[in-house]
Amino acid sequence: MEFRLDGTRVVLDVHPRVNAWFTTRKGGVSSAPFDTLNLSYSVDDLPANIVENRRRALLGSGRGLNELVMPHQIHQNHIEWVGPEHKGRGARGQNPISATDGLFTESDALVLGMGFADCVPIYLTDADAQAVGILHAGWRGTAAQIQKLGVEQLVRRGIDRRRILAGIGPSIGPCCYEVDRPVYDAISAVAGGEPLVQKDEEHWWLDLKKANRILLQMVGVLPENIVEAPFCTGCRSDLFFSYRVEGRRSGRMGGYICLKNK
Ligand SMILES: [Zn+2]
Repeated sequence: MEFRLDGTRVVLDVHPRVNAWFTTRKGGVSSAPFDTLNLSYSVDDLPANIVENRRRALLGSGRGLNELVMPHQIHQNHIEWVGPEHKGRGARGQNPISATDGLFTESDALVLGMGFADCVPIYLTDADAQAVGILHAGWRGTAAQIQKLGVEQLVRRGIDRRRILAGIGPSIGPCCYEVDRPVYDAISAVAGGEPLVQKDEEHWWLDLKKANRILLQMVGVLPENIVEAPFCTGCRSDLFFSYRVEGRRSGRMGGYICLKNK
C-alpha cells in the first residue's frame, strides 16, 4: 500500500479492486494562475476549461463525468452515503451533494470526488473492498474528527475496524503550515501535542497528516493499515496548487476513489 506519482497524478495502491488517485496541477487546459488542471468552479476560471479538466481528471479510470459524484464542501464533518441514484451530482458544478465533507459508497457504479488545495484527503476502504470513501480534512474537519466519524460509518456497515485501510493523501506539510493559538487549541484538544511544534509564543507548525494518523489510530485503525503521501503541497508548487502559497486564486485539485466495475 503506497502513494506514487504516475504521470500527472498521484495514485494510491490500496486494494486490487479499488481505484484511488489525486490529481496534480499538470495535464489540464487552464491558464495562470489556474495552470493547468484546476477543477474548481469557485475560483475565477473559465467553466469550459473546468469541464475539460474534470473530464481529464477521470481519464485512466475508465469513468466519465456522468458517473462522478461531488459534494459542496464546508470544512465540517458531515458524511453521506451515495449510490447510483446520485450519479452525476456536482460533476459539472450543478446540484452537488449539499454541505458534506465525506462521501462513501458500496456501489461500483460511481466515482467519489472532492476538491483540495492543502487540506488533507483521506481515502478509506477495507481489506474486502466492501465500501470506499473519501474525506476532506482541513484543520476544522480534523478537529471535528471527521476521520473518526468516517471509520465509525464503515464499522456500522459491519466492517471490522482492524481491516480498514486508510490513505492520507498529498496536503500541506508541517514545513509550510504555521498556525496560531485557536488552531493549536482545537487540534491539541483532540490529537494531543504531538502533531504541533512550537515556533514562538503564539505560533506552531502543524502536521495535519500526523494529526489525522493519530486520530485514525485512536479509533482502532491499525498503524500498518495507514499510509501517508510523501508530498507537501506547499513545497511542491511545481506539482500542486497550494492555497497557503498562492492564496485565494489558487486552483483546486481532486481526490477520487471508486470500486472497480470490471
Ligand atoms: Zn512544505
